[in-house]
Amino acid sequence: MASTVYMFHAIGTLSSSDSADVNYSYSNEKFIEFLKATGPATSIVKAKNSNITNSPVLTFDDGHISNYEAALSLVENNLGHGDFFVNPAMVGKKDFMSWTQLRELSDLGMSIQSHSFDHIYLSDCTRKEQVHQLKNSKLEIENEIGMGVFILAPPGGRYNKVTEEISKELGYQSIAISKPGVWKDKDQYLIPRIPVMVNDSVTKLSECSELNSKYIRKMKRKYYITGLAKMSLGNKMYEKLRERIIGGEK
Ligand SMILES: [Zn+2]
Repeated sequence: MASTVYMFHAIGTLSSSDSADVNYSYSNEKFIEFLKATGPATSIVKAKNSNITNSPVLTFDDGHISNYEAALSLVENNLGHGDFFVNPAMVGKKDFMSWTQLRELSDLGMSIQSHSFDHIYLSDCTRKEQVHQLKNSKLEIENEIGMGVFILAPPGGRYNKVTEEISKELGYQSIAISKPGVWKDKDQYLIPRIPVMVNDSVTKLSECSELNSKYIRKMKRKYYITGLAKMSLGNKMYEKLRERIIGGEK
């Protein structure tokens, strides 16, 4: 297989009081145009459990309220499915989907997965805190939705070897990371994703689904450089610097 896994956040225009990061939002019109151009999409869970190969894969982090309408428009337009990574601590709060809405999406074939319990950086947590974040998010989502939780997307893409160990022990089948790349093997533990930013064109997103995409090569170089910055500055210093340059990261 060779699938490009896209990482979306909020879809549509955000009001000024919205807590979502505008840099990671994407217009509804461009979202639909991209899917009409690139063909029906699937979720990580569906791709793992079927013979689907090479379809674009949609993932949505944070459980923003706008994802409810986006998911309904996927169904209405026969544009496929996606995985929605949510934090039980945020579900039902202002700007976030409720459990009722998430159950509705699950009934429509969407997969509801874990984005940790509280949306904190796992790489900054002790082992005990990481166990809490991974275990209790999985249990609560499974309890509320009535479906298994098998995929973890670490908040801010921050995880470490301990995260991998614990997630394997708890029965997560894969971790959807924020490192750009192409998903090549259904059984690989770390699934790379392409972060979608507000100014990305439909052409750029569509070309990310092509073999040997020049955009993915460019993003890999950028990720390597920012990875070095995170390592040398530490998460907190890096965030401060990043906020000053382009705004926060969800
Ligand atoms: Zn997030």
